[in-house]
Amino acid sequence: MSAERENGLLEAIKERYLEKLSPEIFRSRLFWKTVEGLARSPLNRPQWKADRVSLSHFIRSTRDAYLGKAPVVWCNLLVPSELVHGLGCLPFYPEMAAAVVASAGLAPRFIDRAVEEEFSSDACSYHRCLLGCAVEGFLPRPDLLLSVNYPCDSAVLSFAFLSELYGVPHLVVDVPLPGREEDLPLLAGQLEEAASEMARLSGRDREGMLRGLAESIELSNRALSYLRRVEEMRKRDDCTLDGKDAMGNVSVLAGCMGSEAGVEFYRLLAEELRERGCRGPRSLRLMWMHLKPWYAQSIFQSLERHGARLVCEEYTHATWEPMDPGDPFVSLAAKLESHFLVGPAERRAAHLARLAEEYRVDGAIHFNHWGCRQSCGGAPLVKRALQEKGVPVLIIDGDCVDQREYQEGQISTRLEAFLESLR
Ligand code: SF4
Repeated sequence: MSAERENGLLEAIKERYLEKLSPEIFRSRLFWKTVEGLARSPLNRPQWKADRVSLSHFIRSTRDAYLGKAPVVWCNLLVPSELVHGLGCLPFYPEMAAAVVASAGLAPRFIDRAVEEEFSSDACSYHRCLLGCAVEGFLPRPDLLLSVNYPCDSAVLSFAFLSELYGVPHLVVDVPLPGREEDLPLLAGQLEEAASEMARLSGRDREGMLRGLAESIELSNRALSYLRRVEEMRKRDDCTLDGKDAMGNVSVLAGCMGSEAGVEFYRLLAEELRERGCRGPRSLRLMWMHLKPWYAQSIFQSLERHGARLVCEEYTHATWEPMDPGDPFVSLAAKLESHFLVGPAERRAAHLARLAEEYRVDGAIHFNHWGCRQSCGGAPLVKRALQEKGVPVLIIDGDCVDQREYQEGQISTRLEAFLESLR
């Protein structure tokens, strides 16, 4: 499920289950019945109708993964979810699970557990957290681990360890450098190999595999057309969807494309944005880069106090074109290769500069997640690219998952000074 949006729900679950938190709880039907009941109750107050769709999708698929109702495939962020949905498997994104654990304030315990296992404290805390959860037996058992070698090598390395821990195969999709058409078949071939392995797990023959993929790609194309509408509406002045809420949609973009839930989520969001309209006074328009601290709200309250809004964020935009259901592997390869995190850091910087222009931002905030080579390492380059477009940039150091690394006072002083300078 997407992270802090379900905070009220997470609090309710914590209240009932924190004392008895154990791996067995997640394998009990009663627990999932309770969670589903709470999600339908008034305790769950989503800001947008679409959030109910994504929440129930993630609860259902996580429940099914724990209860072993279909083969479970662990994926990192850039694995195209169409591939997994289309093969009748359940995609499970442990990096997103780490964000949920962080938003519930439970990450330190698992991060410490990973450090006890001698994982470096310099490693990304999303991965330290998920490794700690896995070692303690809290995550649904995978049948296959599937990682892409972008945006970084954390998943490739963590999944190699997990492959031994669970005794299951690990496939690594090695994406060639972008811009070389002749390399696309190589990538398509690797995706086909992964698909064949999943088809074997779910008992599909080649015909069933291609039919399933055609269906999931059609669903993905429909979701994409609604997502494009959402993006157009968000470019308007004072669109009512704020980036602090939209940032959680990274889980939908990564995990729901190729499912009915993905179509319904973006359809409802586009519809509600149109109905609510774009009202209110002109405010400071900001862009958020990398992800946010999932456990902290104060930073966003500061933005609100200064009349600033996040009009766009790095991870929630589509980078690909509609795909051909009749040519699934080449289409999915092109989708994967289109991602701005594939290739050199200059590609990411150019993508962010383009977003800043399209969304007419007054300033941008880069959250430097500790241990992330991709975000911290690229931050100076991104800053230069944006400054060349006349966009001031604030770089904040912190940690998306480990609340102990969040310097509240220091962050708020620097943020206030930055916002004042934009006025
Ligand atoms: S946050 Fe950074 S280091 Fe961690 S998985 Fe993502 S890209 Fe890799």
